[in-house]
Amino acid sequence: MAQARRPATSETGDPLLLTPGPLTTSKAIKEAMVHDWGSRDATFVGINKAVMDELPKVIHGEDAFVTVPMQGSGTFAVEAMLTSFVPRDGKVLVLINGAYGQRARRILEIAGRGIAVHETAEDMVPDLAEVDAMLAADPKISHVFAVHCETTSGILNPVEAIAALVKRHGRRLLIDAMSAFGALPLDSREVYFDAVAASSNKCIQGVPGLGFVIARKSALAETKGNATTLVLDLHDQNAGFERTGQYRFTPPIHVIVAFHAALQEFWAEGGVAGRGERYAENARILIEGMQELGFKTLLPATKQAPIIVTFHMPQDKAFVFQRFYDALKEAGYVIYPGKLTVADSFRIGCIGALGAQDMRSFLATVSDVLAEMGVGLKSAA
Ligand SMILES: *Cc1c(COP(=O)(O)O)cnc(C)c1O
Repeated sequence: MAQARRPATSETGDPLLLTPGPLTTSKAIKEAMVHDWGSRDATFVGINKAVMDELPKVIHGEDAFVTVPMQGSGTFAVEAMLTSFVPRDGKVLVLINGAYGQRARRILEIAGRGIAVHETAEDMVPDLAEVDAMLAADPKISHVFAVHCETTSGILNPVEAIAALVKRHGRRLLIDAMSAFGALPLDSREVYFDAVAASSNKCIQGVPGLGFVIARKSALAETKGNATTLVLDLHDQNAGFERTGQYRFTPPIHVIVAFHAALQEFWAEGGVAGRGERYAENARILIEGMQELGFKTLLPATKQAPIIVTFHMPQDKAFVFQRFYDALKEAGYVIYPGKLTVADSFRIGCIGALGAQDMRSFLATVSDVLAEMGVGLKSAA
């Protein structure tokens, strides 16, 4: 019985977040924050510089790329990237197969940029032949926007193939790699793009509050005057760092210091390879275990990124999602509601300071909760 179990907890006694970020962070990362720093003082300026210098290494771009951090959540970085890189008379082909592609379209609409859309269902990757034809037919398209892992479903989009296509047409690629950055390989020596956006609270396992754009220096240099806001102007933000090493406006200091600690843990785990391997193992245990319990994944294994997994809502009348959610929360696990339009679903994240044993304990709890609810998925399946 789930009630008889001691609830699962993180190192700091909190429920485990099986969510796509904000996620469970280590105790050391939270402890890094229990101090004060002056935002224009050398101690913080040095820590921030270390973070900015390290991030391009994650994409093997330490020579050609520069980090431009942006205060706020990940969307602030995506909006900064789109509105800084796309000129006012530019036009973006937005590849949409989930909420984050939709959000990029909305950002561009508000900013008054030209838009073309290639949209596929949430469980389908873009049709590259179609993208090829759209680029060939419309010379006004200056940029393409793609999402690496669409967190809406957990689908892995083929950024390498998209990048090759965009380059062949001589257009520019902007990537939202928010939920993939640090866990799925994105090697800038092999994949050509102008900028990639991510944030502090996903696979690097920091706390929320900082977005960042890793920008090709030569492309960033061409963006002066593009921005349509003061705050989200990456060219101006970068110029500020070049002049003073400081943020133009108050930075989330504690978030950045914690992010610095998170990056040390990231490198200690073996960077993208090490972290990606742990998440892949988490995802494998989760998917196999849930399938054994009778749940079905939205995506086939070939399209599934090891970041977040979407499960179909069981048809069994005894399965009431809110009860399932509450019982899991009681047992120390926070899962994630679905966001799909194609199917009634819920999601379980594989990222954060979680390992194989956490996933196995979670599965045992799911099994207990199903029994308590009187759900017989295995026989129903
Ligand atoms: C998390 C995420 C974002 C940013 O979301 P915020 O809530 O603004 O942090 C953007 N794109 C993708 C693909 C994401 O997973």
